[in-house]
Amino acid sequence: MRIKKNKAGNRVLKSFEDLNKEYEMTLALVQKACKHEEISDWCDEWWAIGHSTGRRVKHCLHCRKRVEVDESALYNMRKQQLKNNKHWKKHMTKEECDEYVKTGKWPSNLSKRLKQSK
Ligand SMILES: [Zn+2]
Repeated sequence: MRIKKNKAGNRVLKSFEDLNKEYEMTLALVQKACKHEEISDWCDEWWAIGHSTGRRVKHCLHCRKRVEVDESALYNMRKQQLKNNKHWKKHMTKEECDEYVKTGKWPSNLSKRLKQSK
């Protein structure tokens, strides 16, 4: 179904957004109906190639829905980030570091503080 009609009733090719919306809706229906009977082993989750989210997940081998999420590695990854970047850590309080490890949220004014320190 790559053809749709515009307001004038003419047939036009669907856009990326149209096709993507159809894909998302169809996938949501499949994932809702699937019984998730075959589950993967734990694997790393990536948000882009070479960029781990820090989460470990198990997903359904049929519909790819995440059925289990392990965030314990995520906390370790954030702790490691703070350990590796002493410049950030120097400008954050202990409470802000703990908050970042727990939630992934940076202090809202951290970039301002970093700029002022240069
Ligand atoms: Zn499934």
